[in-house]
Amino acid sequence: MAENISLSAALKKYFGFDTFKGNQEAIIRNLLSGKDTFVLMPTGGGKSLCYQLPSLLMDGTAIVISPLIALMKNQVDAMRNFSEEDGIAHFINSSLTKSATDQVKSDILAGKTKLLYVAPESLTKEENVDFLRHVKISFYAVDEAHCISEWGHDFRPEYRRIRPIINEIGKAPVIALTATATPKVKMDIQKNLGMTDAVEFKSSFNRPNLYYEVRAKTANVDKDIIKFIKQNEGKSGIIYCLSRKKVEELTEILLANGIKARAYHAGMDSATRNANQDAFLKEDIDVIVATIAFGMGIDKPDVRFVIHYDVPKSLEGYYQETGRAGRDGGEGQCITFYSSKDLQKLEKFMQGKPISEQEIGRQLLQETAAYAESSVCRRKILLHYFGEEYTEDNCGNCDNCLNPKKQVEAQDSLCAV
Ligand code: ADP
Ligand code: MG
Repeated sequence: MAENISLSAALKKYFGFDTFKGNQEAIIRNLLSGKDTFVLMPTGGGKSLCYQLPSLLMDGTAIVISPLIALMKNQVDAMRNFSEEDGIAHFINSSLTKSATDQVKSDILAGKTKLLYVAPESLTKEENVDFLRHVKISFYAVDEAHCISEWGHDFRPEYRRIRPIINEIGKAPVIALTATATPKVKMDIQKNLGMTDAVEFKSSFNRPNLYYEVRAKTANVDKDIIKFIKQNEGKSGIIYCLSRKKVEELTEILLANGIKARAYHAGMDSATRNANQDAFLKEDIDVIVATIAFGMGIDKPDVRFVIHYDVPKSLEGYYQETGRAGRDGGEGQCITFYSSKDLQKLEKFMQGKPISEQEIGRQLLQETAAYAESSVCRRKILLHYFGEEYTEDNCGNCDNCLNPKKQVEAQDSLCAV
């Protein structure tokens, strides 16, 4: 199949797109040529296509390792929309019944399935490893590969077992993809997946359409948020809170103020959680109030604002979460409410954790604090964090560039008292 069809014809045929985004084509060619491939591309850059398209062109089934059930369902649904063929994409995870799993396996053995999404904890199950050993694997895609690293914003220990399992199932090229480009995370991934020889593709992490602002968090924070939402009526937005309790409380407050909002956190039963996510995707509601459990891989292109009610635990996480705004290239307002009191709360909370975790946590938190308190262009700081130099003097789309602060203001007013 692969020989006779040009890549752009395949892109058009299967996905309806006219052109590749960024370096998608080079990435896909690299993978098709059988080389290990490492992709650093910001959220919304179009990473999924880098494995979806080649899976359709290659013999066998591509195994996509992906951390979240919500994310898998989302992607499999999308793939099925693109294709008329039944069973072209499937997932295996803990949410599937025995008979559903059997159906998946029979489609794979019949050669119908080009893409199989698996959660890492399902991949490590002996029965699945045994099954996959008999399947022709085209390649392995490790999506959200930063989950391998403790320095990432979403460490998942099961991710560290991927390489040995791949070796057991049978070797094939590996493509690792992440929107996390900090040097530490990158090194961790490459070492752990044994892909230091992989060809690397890094895109710019600048998101010019995102507006970054940090506001002081005062006792009026709820009112500030309500006012902001009312000023942006009818637009879709996400509000991130650190605790489940705060998610519930704030949802109630928004509802009481006539805002169409729902909650999302890992403590809710999965039916309610999924219903709330769907309501947001289908725009039955405007606002989803959530912990960071929400959003990874969710493809809603027209999220118009992301609010951080609490200080994010890391700059990396902040970048990811704000990155869910404006994926269609349109407006995306990213507002963070920051107070040093929150910071102290978080630091205190960390004291219960193992020392190594504490150290990592504290350093990440300090980087966030420095960002929040800085009067330098937010974009510049963020990009610098990803090892990228932003050379413009004024980005024209962050609070510090639009309203330059005098750095000594706070001290001055103290002296005047
Ligand atoms: P990522 O995983 O990098 O965050 P996705 O794979 O979810 O990004 O893709 C983001 C959006 O870009 C999706 O809506 C997807 O359909 C779209 N997209 C991907 N490739 C192209 C393309 N070549 N042309 C137009 N849209 C694309
Ligand atoms: Mg993705």
